[in-house]
Amino acid sequence: MATEETKETKSLNFIEEIIENDLSNGKYDSIITRFPPEPNGYLHIGHASSIVLNFGLTERYKGYTNLRFDDTNPVTEETEYVEAIKEDIRWLGFEWENELYASDYFDTLYSYAVILIEKGLAYVDDSSSDEIARQKGTPTTPGMDSPFRSRTSAENLALFERMKAGEFPDGSKTLRAKIDMAHPNMLMRDPVLYRIKHARHHRTGDKWKIYPMYDFAHGQSDSIEKVTHSLCTLEFVPHRELYNWLIENLGIYPSHQYEFARRNVNHTITSKRKLMQLVNEKYVSGWDDPRMPTVAGMRRRGYTPEAIRDFVERIGVSKRENSVDLSLLEFCVREHLNKIALRRMVVLDPLKIVITNFPEGETEICRSENNPEDPSSGDREVPFTREILIEKDDFMENPPKKYHRLSPGQHVRLKSAYIIRCDEVIRDAEGEITEVRCSYIENSKSGQDTSGVAAKATLHWVSAAHAIPVEVRLYDRLFLVENPSEGEGDFKDHINPASLKTVTGYAEPALATDSPGAHFQFLRLGYFYADKDSAPGRLIFNRTTTLRDNFAKTVQK
Ligand code: ATP
Ligand code: MG
Repeated sequence: MATEETKETKSLNFIEEIIENDLSNGKYDSIITRFPPEPNGYLHIGHASSIVLNFGLTERYKGYTNLRFDDTNPVTEETEYVEAIKEDIRWLGFEWENELYASDYFDTLYSYAVILIEKGLAYVDDSSSDEIARQKGTPTTPGMDSPFRSRTSAENLALFERMKAGEFPDGSKTLRAKIDMAHPNMLMRDPVLYRIKHARHHRTGDKWKIYPMYDFAHGQSDSIEKVTHSLCTLEFVPHRELYNWLIENLGIYPSHQYEFARRNVNHTITSKRKLMQLVNEKYVSGWDDPRMPTVAGMRRRGYTPEAIRDFVERIGVSKRENSVDLSLLEFCVREHLNKIALRRMVVLDPLKIVITNFPEGETEICRSENNPEDPSSGDREVPFTREILIEKDDFMENPPKKYHRLSPGQHVRLKSAYIIRCDEVIRDAEGEITEVRCSYIENSKSGQDTSGVAAKATLHWVSAAHAIPVEVRLYDRLFLVENPSEGEGDFKDHINPASLKTVTGYAEPALATDSPGAHFQFLRLGYFYADKDSAPGRLIFNRTTTLRDNFAKTVQK
C-alpha cells in the first residue's frame, strides 16, 4: 500500500513537484495535459489511473486536459470505442476541454514531414521492413546506412508526394528520419516516420494512403495542442530523445514528456489486446461483463467512481514498475459502499422457519434502518409473519460448541424483529429438513426489548409470503493466479472456472420499489448492484464484492 497519509498531509508526487516548480518559476502560467487513448478497445483500470492522474492534475492546478484519440492506425480503430471511452471518462467524473483526434492533424503532420525532408533530415527508403530491421544493428554494434539514405531532398520530396498519392503498394517504401545509424539509442537509428497503408480510416476515409507512426504523431500532436506536461508510461523513456529531436528540428512548441510506472493490478489483466480475446472468445459476456477490469465492467458490477479514484490516489504515482493487489481496489469499494449502500435483507439458500406462536395470516410491520452509517437515509418497513426464510447454513441441528446461530433450544435475533427459539425440526420421508419450528419471544422486539433473553447471533431473514424471487449473480475473481500473463502457457489457462455463479435469492419487498441505480448491502452477504438487464418484475443483482476479503482463504490455499 503506497501511503497511509491523509490527503491534507500527503507529500507531492514527482510529477506534482515538477509542475509546482514550473509554475512557481514562471515557466508556465497554467498547465495543459492530455489523455490519449487509442480507440481500439474499452478502457481498463490502468487507463483509469492515467485519467485520474491527467485530469486530477489540471483540477488541482490551473489548466485543462484534452481528450485526444490516438487514431493513427487505420485498421484497428472503431467508433464504438470512441463513444465508450467518452462515457467512461465522464462516469469517472471528468470533463475534457477539447475532444481531439490525432487524425485531424494528418495534414499538418504531412507538412512537418515535408519540412524535415527539405532540411535533409528525412528520406524515402525502399528497404523492406526486414531490411530495415537488419540495418538497425544491435544495442552493442552500430547499424548500417540504408542504400537510399543519400537521396536528394528533391528526389525525396517527389517520392513522398507519390507515396501520398497512393502510387506505391503497402510496405514498398517508408519515410525515415535521418539521424545516426550508430546512435546509442536504437530508436534514434533512422526511425520510420511514415508507412504506406491502403486502408480506410474511421474518420479520414480513403483520403490517406500513408499514415504516420506513433513517434511522428504523438509529440507533434502534443505540440500542436501546446500540451505542457505529456505523461506516459515508462516504456516510452527511450522515445523521449526522439520526441525532443523532432520538436527541436521542426521548431515547434516544446511540449515535454514525463514518464511514470504503468499501474498493474494482480489477479487481473490490463491489456486491451488480451481483454479483447476474452470478449471475442466468449470467456465473458462482453467488454462490460462485471468480471472485466474495464471501467464499463466495474460500473456494471457496482463499483463507484469515488472508489476507483480513491484507489488510484492511494497507489500514487511511481517511477518504478509495481503491482498492486486487487484486494486494495476491493477495499476502496467496500469503504465507499459502506457509507452509501442501503441495507436490505435477501436470503440466497432458504430454510423455512414457522413461528408457531405467531398468528396465521397476520403481518407485523418492523422498521429497519436503511444505513446505520448514514442517519439521513431513514428507515423502511419490513413485514414479519408466521413463516419466514433464513439461510440454510444459519441453522444446525447438531452444532459444534461455538456455534451461535440457530440450533435446537438456542435463541437468535431476527434483524430488526424478534428473538426466536428453535423448538422442533421437521423432516420429509427422505430425511431432508423441510422446516424448523420456532417460537418468538413477545417482548423482545428490536428497539423495545424488555425480555432479558440473550441472543448471541443476529440473522437476516425475509417473510416467506412477502419474499420476491430475484436473480443473484455471484462473482469471483476472473483469474486464479496473481500474474496470469506470467510464466508458460496462455493467460487464459488461469481463468477461474467458478468466477460466476447464478442463484435465486428471496428478497424483502422494499427491493421491488428501490431505485435501480442504488447500491445495496444485502446483510451479511455483500454489496450488490442491479444489473443493466434487470427490469421491474425481473430483478437481477450483481454482487459487487463480499463484505470481507475472503479470496485468500477460499481459493489461494
Ligand atoms: P493497452 O496495452 O491496454 O492497449 P495502451 O497503453 O496501449 O494499453 P492506450 O489507449 O494507448 O493504451 O493508452 C492511453 C493512455 O493510458 C496512455 O497514456 C497510457 O500510457 C495509459 N495507460 C494504459 N495502460 C496503463 C496502465 N496500466 N497504467 C497506467 N497508465 C496506463
Ligand atoms: Mg496502445
